[in-house]
Order: sequence, then structure tokens, then C-alpha cells
Amino acid sequence: MSATTATTSHVPSSYDLDELYAHSAHNYKPLPVVLADGEGAWVTDVAGRRYLDALAGYSALNFGHRHPRLIAAAHDQLDRLPLVSRAFDHDRFAEFTGELAALCCKDAVLAMNTGAEAVETAMKAARRWGHQVKGIPDGTARIVVAEGNFHGRTTTIVSFSTDPDARDGYGPYTPGFDLVPYGDLEAMAAAIGDDTCAVLIEPIQGEGGVIIPPEGYLRGVRQLCDERGVLFLADEIQSGLGRTGRTFACDHEDVTPDIWILGKALGGGILPLSAIVADRDVMDVFTPGSHGSTFGGNPLACAVGTEVVRMLATGEWQDRAARLGDRLAEGLAALPAGALSGFRVRGLWAGIDIAGDRTGRQVCEALLARGVLAKDTHGSTIRLAPSLVITEEEVDLLVDTLAQVLAV
Ligand SMILES: *Cc1c(COP(=O)(O)O)cnc(C)c1O
Repeated sequence: MSATTATTSHVPSSYDLDELYAHSAHNYKPLPVVLADGEGAWVTDVAGRRYLDALAGYSALNFGHRHPRLIAAAHDQLDRLPLVSRAFDHDRFAEFTGELAALCCKDAVLAMNTGAEAVETAMKAARRWGHQVKGIPDGTARIVVAEGNFHGRTTTIVSFSTDPDARDGYGPYTPGFDLVPYGDLEAMAAAIGDDTCAVLIEPIQGEGGVIIPPEGYLRGVRQLCDERGVLFLADEIQSGLGRTGRTFACDHEDVTPDIWILGKALGGGILPLSAIVADRDVMDVFTPGSHGSTFGGNPLACAVGTEVVRMLATGEWQDRAARLGDRLAEGLAALPAGALSGFRVRGLWAGIDIAGDRTGRQVCEALLARGVLAKDTHGSTIRLAPSLVITEEEVDLLVDTLAQVLAV
């Protein structure tokens, strides 16, 4: 599907940033490239230059740009009934919720749009569950969260962010959260009290720099939650749906949370679609009128989401991510000593820490000039998350280009 010819070294397209952002908020600082087309693992800019997309929409594009199966599902639905609102039922709803629930081995799905909405939905479920089922006095339920987290951008979610850029100036903040170091089970055990309704973590911290917790951490969280009568909310928005070589990052420790929080790739790289997936005892805290979304679970989203679930149900994408991820890990390990100060890989997902004085941004600009798109996070760390359609040759191209850039 995607060509394997390497793009040659070139400079990024020149354009006037001031002009491009004349009427836009400045809440992003993109790399200097203006994209116009995409296919599979590749994108093309307005000047016709091709780039290997090693970010893949922060994992929203796990199946690449314009996957034919997903585009066909979307077109088909666009020609029938794209939107109705949840005031009425539609004929794509039951298959989507049923098949996603089955993929997650849970009873029920609540569909929303963005990842942040799904996280909010999970926290609402946990607070209500804490009150109604666990008997925590209304308005006092607490949620344990991890330092370095990224769960989205709403005022409540940034209330428990430890990233000053994401949080500062947005107060007053929502109370009810207890922060503990990521990967530290003892701290978590100490933070769980009688008023705790849930623990919310990313099984791998994506924005944090692809931080993989110590082996046994997820099992330990599961055990703690069971012992203390607390819900385990796993934010798999970035880590889930094939990225790590399994359907979910939690699968690496054979752990099932009480609520799966999904987004990004669930929308097939076409539209925003998120969901929480849980068993009835948790999901049924929601009653008519107690939660909702105008666009949540719309027919177009369900049609695309169902196709995503069917693609994942075969296991081939997960296998692909595992196999190609091994190749990526081998490639990174073979980089000249001293190029990196560290790297972490799980499936087709890597966080690499640049050694020396160069910032992650500078390295990403150098990668851009050589035809690879990647994104820095937190200073000197770069996240690599190519779409799972990437070929072995393209993984090698990614590693080779990185080696060239780091050698300069
Ligand atoms: C991207 C992301 C979110 C937020 O998703 P949006 O669709 O941007 O609201 C939440 N949690 C994690 C782990 C993410 O990577």
C-alpha cells in the first residue's frame, strides 16, 4: 500500500508562520511543514515532498492514513446516515457497542468523542460508583493519579496534571485527587484511603515519554484495587488498540482494569471516537439524563469504530506491532554508543532520550529535513509511534535516518 522508496535529504517547505497563524490561537508549535496528503505510513506536503510519519497522530493513526477498509466504511455510512444524536436509536449502534465490549471482555460501552471526555466519563462513573456502591459520602470520593500523567485538557483533568505548561493559570482546580509517583506501589497503597473510589493511570505514560512502569506494577495495582475495594481505571487512549503489540498495554501483565478508557485509534484516523468499557455493576451507575454527548456514538463514528474493532479482533495488527517493534528495538540498540542516553520500546512505540546538548525539537527538525516526522516531548525525549502499516524496510529507514541525524 505505501511506497518504500526513501525520501532524499531536503529542506522543509518554506512558508510564512505569521501568515499561517494570523487567525489562530497559538496553543501549538508545529514543526515547519504543511501537509496536504496522506497514504498509509506516508504523508506529502504542499510542495510535494514525502515524509514517513513516525508520530501517526499520537496513535490516532494506528492503521495509517486513509486505510482502505476504514475509508470504505466511512463512505458507506456517509451515504446513508452520518448523524442522528442519541435522542433516537440508529442501526449501527448495537453492533459497535457489542463488538467493542467483546474485544474488551466487558459488558458495556459508553461512547463519547475525545479522549478527555472518556477520561471525564470514567471519573464520573467512579465517583458515582464510590457513592452509590461503596458508600463513600457524596462529594468526598477521591481518585489516586500518577505524577507525570497525561489524561487530556479539561479543567478537571489539568487540575491533577504535574506539567506546569498544561496546568498553570487554569485554577480554581477541581479537588479530589491524590498524586503518587508513577510505578511506586507502596506510595499508591499509602494514598488509598476509605474515601478512595478509584486509581487512574496510563499503563504506559505516553506524553510522559513512553515511560514503561516496572514489571509487576500493573498486576500490583490490580491487586491493591481488589484488596481495598477501589476501581482500576486504565487510560489506554494512546497505549491501546494494538500499539504495544497486544490489544492493550495491560495485556502484557494479563491485567484487566475495571474501566478501559479508549480513544485515538478507535476513530480509525478519520474522526474523534472515544469510549469507556466496563461491566454492568459499574456502567449502570449511569441512568438516562445523567451523562451524554450530542455526537457520542453517532452512526458515522460507530461504522468506523466497528471496522476498527473487527480489524483488531483478528490479532494480526497486534502481531505486526510486536514483530516490527522488535525490529525497531534492535535498530535503536544498534545505534552508535553515546547517541542516546536511554530508550524504551514496547511494540511500535518508543521513547528515546537524546544525549548531548541538542533538544528533542532540534532533532525533530533535522529528521523533518530528512523526510521523517516525529515529535519531541519534555525537552530531550522523542516519541516514535509510526502507524502499524509500516513495513520492515520503513522501520529500517526510520532507524537509519535517526542514526544519520544523531551522527551530525
Ligand atoms: C491523547 C490522550 C488523551 C486525551 O485525548 P484527546 O482526544 O486529545 O482529548 C488522554 N489520555 C491519554 C493517555 C492520551 O494519550
